[in-house]
Amino acid sequence: MNSRRDFLQKLSIGIGAAALAPLSSSASLFPSFKKPGKKLRVALMGLGGYANIVARAMKECQLASLTGIVTGTSSKIAVWKSNYGIPDKNVYNYGNLHTIANNPDIDLVYITTPNSLHHKHVLQVAATGKHIICEKPVADNAQQAREMIAACKKAGVKFYVGYRLHFEPHTRELIRMRKAGEFGRIMHVNNYMGFKIGDPTQWRLKKALAGGGAMMDVGVYALNGARYATGEEPIWVTAQETKTDRVKFAEVDETVTFQLGFPSGVVASCGTTYNFNNYERLYLIGEKGFAELSPAFGYGPIGGKTHLGPMNQPLITHQAAQMDGLADCILNGTPDPDMTGEEALKDMIAIDAVYESLRKEGRKIYLDKK
Ligand code: NAD
Repeated sequence: MNSRRDFLQKLSIGIGAAALAPLSSSASLFPSFKKPGKKLRVALMGLGGYANIVARAMKECQLASLTGIVTGTSSKIAVWKSNYGIPDKNVYNYGNLHTIANNPDIDLVYITTPNSLHHKHVLQVAATGKHIICEKPVADNAQQAREMIAACKKAGVKFYVGYRLHFEPHTRELIRMRKAGEFGRIMHVNNYMGFKIGDPTQWRLKKALAGGGAMMDVGVYALNGARYATGEEPIWVTAQETKTDRVKFAEVDETVTFQLGFPSGVVASCGTTYNFNNYERLYLIGEKGFAELSPAFGYGPIGGKTHLGPMNQPLITHQAAQMDGLADCILNGTPDPDMTGEEALKDMIAIDAVYESLRKEGRKIYLDKK
C-alpha cells in the first residue's frame, strides 16, 4: 500500500490542499521577475511521474512554456502532444537528441530521468548548446558533477538543478531571517526527510539507476536544508545506517542518520529513510529564536512557524515558481539562486562523505581535504 506512488499521492494531496487555499502566482509573488519579450521554451526529457508534475505546473507559468519533449516511449507521444500542444517537430527520442541543437523552438532541456542517467544526459544536452535544468540528486558522485559543470561551462550554457524550494516562500523567508540575524547565532539544525518506499522492483532500489538509496533521493533535502539553514558549508560528516530489510534494500541504503559539522561549530543532525512515513522537518535553533518548517521539503503546502508565530507565507506551485524564476535568470540576467550545478556539487561532496563514513563504520570524514 505504501509506496513511492503513495508519497507522490501524499504530495499531490498537498497540492490539492494548496489549490483550495488561495494559491499565489509566481508572477504576483515575485514582482522582481521581469516579463521578457519572449518566454523561455522548455523541452522535458524523461516523461515519468515528476515530468508530469512539472508539465502541469508549467501551465501557470508566465515566463516559461513547454514546447518540446524527449522520450524513449513512443506510446507517450500522442498524449503529451494533445495535453500540451507540442508539435511533431519538437518531439525527440534518445537517439536523435543531438538534432535538438538545430531547433530554435527550444532554449532549455529539463532532465527528469533516473538519477544515474543525469551525468550522461547532461553531457549530451550540453553538447547541443541548450540550457539545462537537471533533477536532484545531480549525479552519482562529486566527480560526475564536476564533469557536468565543466561540460556546461565549455558549451556556454546555464546548468541548474531542480532545488525548487529555493523559490518556495517559507524557505525564502527562513533564509531571509537567518541572513538578517533574526535568529541570532545559529546553534543547532535538525532536518529529516523520508518516506516508506513501495514496489521492490522500481529503479530507486537499483544502485545502477539510482546511485544510492534514501540518502541520494531525499536525504539531499535534509542536507541542502542544513546548508541554507546555517549559511555555511560543512567541514566534516559522520553517518550511520540502519538496515531492517536486507532483501529489499540489498543494493541501496534504507535509513541513514548523518551529522554535518560547520566552521562555526554548529552541528546539523539529519536523517533520511525509505522505510517509514511522516519524517519531514527542518528545525533551526538560534540564540535569539527558532524556525520550524513541517512539512519542509515536499511539494506543499509547506508549513512553518518561528519564535514570532506562524509564518503564513503564500502557498504556491513550486514547479511553476521555479520555472518562472529560472526563466527570469536566463532571459533577464537576474542573479542565479542557489540552484546551480556548483551548489549541487557541494551537496554531492557531502553525500560522497556520508557514504564514505558508512563504509568506514561511522568514521568522521573531513571535507576540507576533498
Ligand atoms: P519516474 O520513474 O516516474 O520517471 C523516470 C522517467 O525516465 C520515465 O519516464 C522513464 O521512462 C524515463 N527513463 C529514461 N531512460 C530510462 C532508463 N534507462 N531506465 C528507467 N527509466 C528511464 O521517476 P521520477 O519520480 O519522475 O524521477 C525522475 C527524476 O526526478 C529523479 O532524478 C528524481 O530524483 C527526480 N524527482 C525530483 C522531484 C523534486 O521534487 N524535485 C520529485 C520527484 C522526482
